[in-house]
Amino acid sequence: MNINVTIPAPSAKTQEFFARKHKLYIDGAWTEGVSGERIDVVDPGTGNVISSATAAVAADIDKAVAAARKAFESGVWANMPGLERGKLISKLARRLEELGDELAEIEAIDCGKPLAYAKYVDVGLTANIYHYMAGWAGKACGETVSLSAPGEYHAFTQREPVGVVAAITPWNFPLVLTAYKLAPLLAVGCTCVVKPSELTPLSTLRFAEIAEEVGFPPGVINVVTGYGSPAGSALVEHEGVDKVAFTGSVATGRKIAQAATGNLKRVTLELGGKSPMVVFPDADLDKAIPGLASAIFFHQGQVCTAGTRLYVHKSIHDRVLEGIAAESKKLKIGHGLEPDTTMGPMISSAQLQKVMGFLDQGKQEGAEVVAGGERIGSAGFFMQPTILANTTDSMSVVREEIFGPVLCAQSFSDDELDAIAAKANDTIYGLAASVWTRDISVAHKMAKRIKAGSVWINAHNFYDPALPFGGFKQSGWGREEGSEAIRTFTEVKSVCAVL
Ligand code: NAD
Repeated sequence: MNINVTIPAPSAKTQEFFARKHKLYIDGAWTEGVSGERIDVVDPGTGNVISSATAAVAADIDKAVAAARKAFESGVWANMPGLERGKLISKLARRLEELGDELAEIEAIDCGKPLAYAKYVDVGLTANIYHYMAGWAGKACGETVSLSAPGEYHAFTQREPVGVVAAITPWNFPLVLTAYKLAPLLAVGCTCVVKPSELTPLSTLRFAEIAEEVGFPPGVINVVTGYGSPAGSALVEHEGVDKVAFTGSVATGRKIAQAATGNLKRVTLELGGKSPMVVFPDADLDKAIPGLASAIFFHQGQVCTAGTRLYVHKSIHDRVLEGIAAESKKLKIGHGLEPDTTMGPMISSAQLQKVMGFLDQGKQEGAEVVAGGERIGSAGFFMQPTILANTTDSMSVVREEIFGPVLCAQSFSDDELDAIAAKANDTIYGLAASVWTRDISVAHKMAKRIKAGSVWINAHNFYDPALPFGGFKQSGWGREEGSEAIRTFTEVKSVCAVL
């Protein structure tokens, strides 16, 4: 197993950014938190504290929501011509691209990901989402409607911004998952309060500075840092919030759905997953094997759509597992700033312990470790990419979201697509799935049978701003991205004139 041990120093600019006493961004101004409490921000590649953020409390949330409300009701953003809103969102996208190296460095250190991936995926996809959604500004239109009542009417629908949105994000892709929410909500004229994860607040704080520099009116984008409770919970309970757009765990999603009942705010939830990958005997294994390895080991498996359950036909089972194991050994594990690193650390000591706990349980239940399975070193939170064979549907490693680099493999001998799909669908989750075959008919028949928000054919973890993204079953409510996102941040109004 390769592991990088050297840790290059961040650029002087990033060091200066980390050293700052970060405040909250409310109503266009950087504001001290009411409580004075701070949150230590840790580099998961070293375990060292690198910065700190403000721990917002309910009083700070009140101020942020009031600012977003004032900006919304003033019409400064909602009534701006769509073209002008779009231009500002495009300007933001271009600025994010220009500052790509700096943003990628912050994200690579704070989230523990290889710098090149942070540049390409985190910054690249983020900028593309803003570029794409800029084009939607001013285009969220309604339609004219023919009525069946006797008489003459002019009836039509129009889409109006839902209002003040609380955007709450997890720690695995802070910039991307903020963009999933902000790009469409800004396009349709909403205002927002963003709360990033307490584990990874830094790129969202830098994002707020960039949004300020680009010229968004005060109060349109507010950023508060803080813990799930009290900051996140105050936000989702707040009567001044019209909608919560949340990405995170199922457990928190449930709490949010309950908290939203006070003023019956709108809620979209992007939650966990346990995505199956089904490999048929005719698959192009030269392409499938690296694809399957990347599906589970990319960002250490800390991806909601990670391909965690592998169902492979028994005729190719051994070859596929050996191939994925060989791919795992090629990974260069280390700190994200080391140029040749291809796999970083787990986000925290707690997450590492959680994943190791799942592994212990899996072994006790009879799973066979055919690759990896161990923590690496004691500095930082590194672990080996791991493959478990002979797993069964009842094992906790197969049923629960591990959120680590652990592949659970099973073989199938069935030729009945319904039976194979039943295995793939045997989960409370329904976020994503992939099917690997050269038979286009089998591929589409399986895509139809699998109950998941995204089904990829001969690929996994494929995202595009135009493709709606979200989950069936307990993987969530609603969709982000594409035209669906525009719908979820608008209310439909029916207007009917009796002529
Ligand atoms: P989490 O649910 O612990 O936290 C997510 C966010 O919610 C954080 O900002 C946190 O501070 C906040 N929060 C916690 N308690 C809250 C409360 N009571 N009220 C309001 N906010 C609260 O999730 P996590 O550990 O940060 O992220 C990992 C989870 O996110 C995994 O389950 C993963 O599958 C999921 N995820 C889903 C997607 C998706 O698009 N479906 C994408 C990435 C991650």
